[in-house]
Amino acid sequence: MSLDTDLAAPRLWAVTKYPYLARALFACTAREAVGSDTIAVDESWQLQIDPAVLAELDTNQTGRLLVHLVSHLVRQHAARAEHVEDRARWNRCGDAEINDDLLADDCVPAVAGTLPADLGCTEGGLAEAYYASETEVLPGWDCGSGADGVGRPWDQPGGLRPGQAELLRLGVAADIQRDPGSVAAGWLRWAQSVSPSRTDWRRVLAAELRSAVAAVSGSVDYSYRRPSRRAHTNTRIVLPSMVRPVPDIAIVCDTSGSMDSQLLARALAEIEALLARAGLRGRQVRVLSVDAQVHAVDRVNRASQVQLAGGGGTDMGAGIEAAVALRPRPSIIVVLTDGFTPWPVKPPRGSRVVVGILGSRVPGPDWARTVHIDL
Ligand SMILES: [Zn+2]
Repeated sequence: MSLDTDLAAPRLWAVTKYPYLARALFACTAREAVGSDTIAVDESWQLQIDPAVLAELDTNQTGRLLVHLVSHLVRQHAARAEHVEDRARWNRCGDAEINDDLLADDCVPAVAGTLPADLGCTEGGLAEAYYASETEVLPGWDCGSGADGVGRPWDQPGGLRPGQAELLRLGVAADIQRDPGSVAAGWLRWAQSVSPSRTDWRRVLAAELRSAVAAVSGSVDYSYRRPSRRAHTNTRIVLPSMVRPVPDIAIVCDTSGSMDSQLLARALAEIEALLARAGLRGRQVRVLSVDAQVHAVDRVNRASQVQLAGGGGTDMGAGIEAAVALRPRPSIIVVLTDGFTPWPVKPPRGSRVVVGILGSRVPGPDWARTVHIDL
């Protein structure tokens, strides 16, 4: 019997009880960790399982433990343990944060069953608060490096990369927010903290564009090209006038198959309105349609005139590269994408980039300012 066969029934039990954790439960792969004397998770979302321990648990108890262990991962207990000294205590405090939400459904696992009350704390708190309490905590079930960030001897390479894990967490948060009525209070609070609902993206986008324009044109250039009007009142000295360079803007539109064209049209219309208000409409704005390659560069008067082309894979790096190669080189590049794209490692030289991510909470590249645009 393989581990996957052994886990099939408990996993099904867990998914049925907690549908909003389904994608996390299925993302975990099972590895055999003979002699570990526990069933644990590592930081790459692998279940490290001692078969002898698994043989002792029935389907119901293993299912409860799967939900519990996956919760450590989704709630990032390993990363949150960074400044924690007593990792064994932290493990119990993470358990209490998780089990609190399993209690309502009577799904607390018999192993790793610590509750807030066991730590002398009231319900509904976070592991950090429990950790700060005075109560002495006894060591217990080892939930693994996925619960406290310290590698175990039995941890094996493989599993998810950090970026994949982040996407999964965002997916779980989205699943929870889709059907909040059936979700435990702690999970709902968690999902809202991960993806705050309905931030006013228009305001954020406007602020990002304003700051980009200010950074480019704000470096006010004292120039003698046009004499100051005040020069008329003083015939002996020519005063310098202030010339604000007008920023050239390129908009890179993701037109790959996965894009929501309605959302894209709305984002473009919004940008057009913002640019018009800033007196930047027209000649300075160029729009590139990009999926895995650049399909069209339009010099448009209105962003809404953009023809969406393409429909293949996605690489916004190609779009940014093409935008930087335009002459005159745009000083501001706005990228509109659903976020499921590779990004260049470094920002382009000489251009500021604002990324608008449409319809998902996928993070943008860490070197760009990112705005999440919701429906
Ligand atoms: Zn645990």
